[in-house]
Amino acid sequence: MIETIAQVQMPVDEKLSIRRQRLRADAKKDSGNRICIVTGIHGDELEGQYVCYETGRRILENPHYLTGTVDIYPALNPFGIDSVTRGIPAFDLDMNRIFPGRKDGDMNEYLAAEILHDMEGAGLCLDIHASNIYLTEIPQIRINELFKETLLPYAKLSNVDFIWVHGASTVLESTFAHSLNSRGVPTLVVEMGVGMRITKEYGDQLVDGIFSLMKEQGIWSGPVDRVRTPVVSERADDVCFLNAPVSGVFLKQKSHNSMVKKGECIGVIINPLTLEPACEIRAPESGLLFTIREYPIVDEGSLMGRIICNAPVVSSFL
Ligand SMILES: [Zn+2]
Repeated sequence: MIETIAQVQMPVDEKLSIRRQRLRADAKKDSGNRICIVTGIHGDELEGQYVCYETGRRILENPHYLTGTVDIYPALNPFGIDSVTRGIPAFDLDMNRIFPGRKDGDMNEYLAAEILHDMEGAGLCLDIHASNIYLTEIPQIRINELFKETLLPYAKLSNVDFIWVHGASTVLESTFAHSLNSRGVPTLVVEMGVGMRITKEYGDQLVDGIFSLMKEQGIWSGPVDRVRTPVVSERADDVCFLNAPVSGVFLKQKSHNSMVKKGECIGVIINPLTLEPACEIRAPESGLLFTIREYPIVDEGSLMGRIICNAPVVSSFL
């Protein structure tokens, strides 16, 4: 059932509506538990669109296994998704910096408040992001240290390759996930793939994880696949960053999700005008390359990649 959870009138004609698809078990099978699948806060991140569709499709294929409620929100920033714009069009505003919002605030604050209100009481929420147009990411979950104890067990069931626990000092209190976690709804932030694209393989991987979480939550009684064992990083020095030493055009040589050795070349930066020798970007440490620059134009200091140092080699990476 499609329902509108928040709506505001635009100045002349249009209405801005945030809608969800609710899939609910028959009353006699309903455990009363609910999971929210959320995406589209950033309108240029499209990986979650496929995840929403595929989750719903699999449920509708076997609705007799459904024993709770699955709420799917494909576009929290609908104008952003429709125009493939990262922020809220016309406001030049990052929607993931306006939570928890206010019911008596301006239209965007009002929408943020209504969104949180609609999800209150859910047992679990997944907030699916897709990096940005510059970087490709392996499927991962990012957790604020503040909520680690609650979220880590769920994250391990999510079938992602990597769980990154951030220090409390980097917490952004105005994000959707932080607001919902603060209200007692465990909310996992997923990052995977790249902006403006859909990586079906990653989507299928995450959907498998969503079904395993649904099973754990008493929302799904059907068979689920075994989930993969993620690498978990809980120390700041586990992750090393590669930044561009010069401006130019980046040609990558290693793809993400590959193991690299210290000193190995990940890519080169060339200058097509000066024809100076290519600047090689080398791995500062051995480990798993979990982020790689996708967008070729780089400025000095641009992020080129990230490596989990000392990452244990697990089967999914071989
Ligand atoms: Zn995002």
